[in-house]
Amino acid sequence: MTATLPSYEDVLKAAARLEGVAHRTPVLRSSTLDTRLGAQVFFKCENFQRIGAFKFRGGYNAIAALSEAQRRRGVVAFSSGNHAQAVALAAKLLGAPATIVMPADAPRAKKNATQEYGARVIEYDRATQDREQVARQFVERDGLSLIPPFDYADVIAGQGTAVKELLEEAGGLDALFVPVGGGGLISGSALSAHAISPDCQIFGVEPQAGNDAQQSFRSGAIVRIAQPSSIADGALTQALGQLTFPLIQRHVKDILTVTDAQLVQAMQFFAERMKIVVEPTGCLGAAAVMNEAVPLKGMRVGVLLSGGNVDLASYGAQLAASDRLPPT
Ligand SMILES: *Cc1c(COP(=O)(O)O)cnc(C)c1O
Repeated sequence: MTATLPSYEDVLKAAARLEGVAHRTPVLRSSTLDTRLGAQVFFKCENFQRIGAFKFRGGYNAIAALSEAQRRRGVVAFSSGNHAQAVALAAKLLGAPATIVMPADAPRAKKNATQEYGARVIEYDRATQDREQVARQFVERDGLSLIPPFDYADVIAGQGTAVKELLEEAGGLDALFVPVGGGGLISGSALSAHAISPDCQIFGVEPQAGNDAQQSFRSGAIVRIAQPSSIADGALTQALGQLTFPLIQRHVKDILTVTDAQLVQAMQFFAERMKIVVEPTGCLGAAAVMNEAVPLKGMRVGVLLSGGNVDLASYGAQLAASDRLPPT
């Protein structure tokens, strides 16, 4: 494969397209956490982004980069998570019809949210059908443009705009922690971080139960794993992509893992101390920092909180769980 990797120039183009459309999300601090770690931690709060997650950035940038004729024919995506809502809203704002392919057993709330943004939802049977193949039918038959969730240059470039904003606001960083699913977010983040703050060490964080990126990073070839199980439902991808893997190899210092229990502790910390709702996947980077997965004393540390979309019943149960972080 010889697809061209996106560069920081592409992130700058994405930032221009997203200006006045995406929210410039806040950067929050916690003196409790800074004191505990002896470090300065800057949280980039993409839980406050449109649709509740950073994925709006990549989805919007990818659709805005299409030709007028392509946009008129429409876009298709396969996702039951934040990418579905990102593509649905971005398509609506840009006047493109959107088709979202979702498993028939996806939560009703997710289907409704996607339909409320004006998208057509096509259901498929997880047991007998391949979602990518279902989506490809719309590409081949109807000429729709496929908007992939991570392995696509304009999606990666769009995702990179969040860390660009973080560095503009917080200044240079010694370390940056970013959740990793298929690697679109960390790839874009790395382009921005190394363009603006070249010495920043970039760490990806995955659920321990689904550490395909860690295995790939350490072995030097893309490793595909069986469908993992974790509360971090936005990071259950089975393999990195053809674009995201080389970008991760080039820019990332290491891929770390955290347990589901550590994610719950981070969610509790955000609710109790900082009064913010962060979804389990959104807590991956923060959980690595809170558990000092690498030494951080004296450092300026960026953490990307990637999203805040929770199922209220699960969220309530997770907040009530008793395995807390030690008090300070
Ligand atoms: C999709 C998603 C991720 C993972 O992003 P990738 O680009 O697939 O690595 C992390 N957090 C949230 C909230 C997501 O929706």
